Order: sequence, then C-alpha cells, then structure tokens
Amino acid sequence: MKLAVIVSLTPWLQLLSVPLSRLCQSQTRLIFLPLLLVVGESLAAEQADNGQSEVPIRELVVTNSGSWKPFSYRNDAGEPSGMLVDIWREYAKANRVKIRFILTDWQHSLDLVRNGQADIHAGLLWSQEREHYLDYAQGLLGIESQLFFNQALLGTEPDRYLDSGGKVGVVSGGYEEAFVRREFPNTSLIVYASNEQMLKSAVAGSLKAFVADLQVANFYLYTSQEPTLFVPVRHLYSAQIRSAVKEGNVTLQEEIRQGLARIPDAEYQRILNRWMYVETVYPRYLLHVVLALLFLAVISYVFMLRRTVAIRTAELEAVNAELVHLAATDSLTGITNRRAFMEALEQACDSRSYDSLTLLLFDIDDFKRINDSYGHLVGDELICQLVQRVATLLPEGAVFARVGGEEFCILQLGMAESATQKLARSLLLSVGRAPFPTKVGELPLSISIGAVYAGPGQRDPLSVLADADRLMYQVKASGRNDLLFRRF
Ligand code: GH3
Ligand code: MG
Ligand code: MG
Repeated sequence: MKLAVIVSLTPWLQLLSVPLSRLCQSQTRLIFLPLLLVVGESLAAEQADNGQSEVPIRELVVTNSGSWKPFSYRNDAGEPSGMLVDIWREYAKANRVKIRFILTDWQHSLDLVRNGQADIHAGLLWSQEREHYLDYAQGLLGIESQLFFNQALLGTEPDRYLDSGGKVGVVSGGYEEAFVRREFPNTSLIVYASNEQMLKSAVAGSLKAFVADLQVANFYLYTSQEPTLFVPVRHLYSAQIRSAVKEGNVTLQEEIRQGLARIPDAEYQRILNRWMYVETVYPRYLLHVVLALLFLAVISYVFMLRRTVAIRTAELEAVNAELVHLAATDSLTGITNRRAFMEALEQACDSRSYDSLTLLLFDIDDFKRINDSYGHLVGDELICQLVQRVATLLPEGAVFARVGGEEFCILQLGMAESATQKLARSLLLSVGRAPFPTKVGELPLSISIGAVYAGPGQRDPLSVLADADRLMYQVKASGRNDLLFRRF
C-alpha cells in the first residue's frame, strides 16, 4: 500500500521537479522517505475508509436453469444450489461483487440475458443459434453427453437403435435435443420438460433409453433406488459449459474472464470435487454389501480353517492310532507283541474286578530243527500258519501274543476253570491234528503248553508268567506235545 501511494504521488513530485530516481538517491531518500511514508500511510487509510463506506458493492445478476441438477437448481429449501452456483459464489468472493441468482426455466434464462435483465448466464453449451445473441466467456466445466440404455436393452447396438426409430428421451430445449435431432433424425424423441421428469420416467420403467449428460444422469440415478438400472452405452459428444453475456457486452465479457482467473485453483477444485462426489456417489447399499462380503469372507476363512484343522487332527489321530497299534503289534504275525502283552497282564493283575485269570503259554517243539532243515523263511511261514489256526479257537476278548521267537501266550479274564482246561486241550489237538501248508510242502508241528488258572485276588503278573513257563518246561522235559494245567 505504501509503495502504491508513493507511485501515485510520482506525477506531483515530477511537477515539483523531484524525479522519483532522485528520491531513491541516498541523501535525498533519508529526508523524503519517512515523510512520504507518513503521508502515504494516512492517504492509504483514507482511501480504505472511503472504499468501505462509500463505494457500494456492485451487484451482478446471474441466471440459469433452476432444474439443471447438479449444475444449477433450487434445493429443497428453494435456495440456488449446484456446481455453477458454487462457482459464481466463489467468483463473488474473489472479486468483491454481489451476485443475485435468478434460476428459472431454460428459455427464460436465455431471454433474461438477451434482454439485459440479467448480466450473466451462469453456464451453458455453445450453439450457433445462441451465438447470435450471446457472447461466451471461457469454459467452466466439461460435460460428456451419453446415450443411456435400460439394462433390458443391453445387447442392442446403440447406433442402430438411434437410426431405426428407437424411442429416446431428451429434455426440451436442451442442447441434447438439438444434437440428437441433427445427428440422428430417425430417432423417435420423447421430450421431457426437465431432467428430473425424464429420469423419473426412466427409473419408473416407462422410458428405456435417454440422452443426458453423464453427471446429470448419475446425479439422479445414484440418488434413486435403482442406481444400476441404466448404463451409458454410447458417448455422443463432449462439450464445455461456458458462461455468457449479452451479445456485444465486451467489457463484461473481459471482466468475467479476469474475474474467473481470480478464483484460486484449489477452491475451484474443491467445488468440482464436492459435486463430483455426487456424481460418483455409491449406492446406499454398497457399504452393507461390502460389509456382508467381508463378513462372509471371514466366516468362510474361519470355517475353512476349522475344517482344515479338523482334517489334520483326524489325520494325526489316525497316524497316532496306527503308531499305537504298530507299537503293540508283532510285525511277523500281526498279533499282540511281548511289550503290549506284559502291559495287558499287569493291568489284569492290578484290577480286582476279574473273577478268574487264565494264562496259556506254549512253545513250538523242536523248531530249531525245522529252521535248520528248511530255512528261516519256511520257519516264519509255519509260525504265521500256526498263529492263524490258534486264533480261530480263541474266545472273544482273549489277548493272543507272540512273547518270544516261537513262544506264545493267551490271556483271558473271567473264564471258568473247566473252560481253561478245555481250551488248552483243543489248542494242543488242533495244532497236532493236521500239518501246516508251506512252500516246501505240508509240515507237521506240535506244541508244549503250560496252562495256569488263577482265581479272584491280586497276583503278581511275573509270577503268573513264571508259573506258566515252569509248567511248559515240565512238559518239554517229559517228552513235549502235551499240556500241564495248574490252578493257583
Ligand atoms: P524245544 O522243543 O526245546 O522248544 O526245541 P526248539 O528247537 O524249539 O528250541 P527253542 O524253543 O529253545 O529254540 C527256538 C528256535 O526257534 C531257535 C530259533 O532258530 C528259532 N526261532 C526263534 N525265533 C524265530 C523266528 O522268528 N523265525 C524262525 N524261522 N525261527 C525262529
Ligand atoms: Mg521251541
Ligand atoms: Mg522257544
């Protein structure tokens, strides 16, 4: 401000033969500059006061359609609203002018500017006809006009539809109407008074195709219950929405050009973004759909995780069971091995619940001779054959185990004494009754059995086993192929 005042004083100083360059010379500057600054400051203050209190803020009358959502329309409260309204409000702020909006129907808004009743048309598309009575300023917004199809028409070729008399909705007097009439003269136009009415018919299902600006259509569609009912299928033209003044008003046209340039870019962008948001507003149910999908994804993931864990656990349990089985099984014959048998015997002796305990221990006679004569493999074959034959004789629940190379035990709880004797005898007879098939022919076997029967009461497992062993050796000593029974 001070420098501006100095500059405005220059002609007076020149009159007094004190050129500005001299003022800036060192000695002169020392004397004059403080003086000038004081004078300048008081003059500036005076000018500012005058500006505020005396110069009235200029009013510009800006007009446009009142139902051109989202560019210019009256909101529910009846106030001017929309992208163009916001731009002109920002213009007012940036240029210290007051703006009065007249939002009316299209034709009236054009007439107002043409007749000088409004200063500025807020924004419209260029057309040759309008060029006759309007002077346009620079573009404010870009728009894209599209042909929209109802989902039911998808698959129809848009150009063929337009050329073959297809019904298309347009807004009366809009640029779109003129464009479609010119470019697609065969189209059957259904003319609506406003975008709102056209989009209402479209959403209600009575209009299957319409031409509208993308932003306008999206504004209505996305705020309806059927945001995806219509889709843009053909781009018709891109155009600029430009403000305009009465033909010949070059001063105002230039003033607008400069005034628009004063709107800060960030502010301009903020306005566009604000209304673009409306354009790209997501359907109301989208959040619910996204949340539901997320929920489903999490549930599916948890379900799959649980299923995988269940499968792995089952596999692990099966492997464990197999391991337990293998740990308790004799690998050659598949019956219980010595370790598992000893556990079973200990358990049986620890438990007081049994009425009786039967233990039969038998050993194959002269087995070494068989191995020596036919080899170990034939010996193994015979062991397996013998096990199979014995197994068929055993009562349910009996533990049959291979406790040594060719030495076996049978443990049974709750068996009667007579049944124990009978079982021992049938074992002996069954083994000796018929020879066993092998790859070198049928070979006979005999066994020696020590049979122990213990009544109710606690017995030491090792002593039971030792008793049976002792009996078996007594049989061996007295000629083999026999049994000895003892009740303890
Ligand atoms: P005894 O009538 O006194 O029992 O005579 P034996 O020859 O059967 O003598 P003993 O029971 O002491 O000898 C066991 C023999 O059984 C020794 C070994 O050659 C054989 N043997 C032990 N385990 C196996 C095996 O897994 N496979 C085969 N083929 N032979 C075995
Ligand atoms: Mg033997
Ligand atoms: Mg033996």
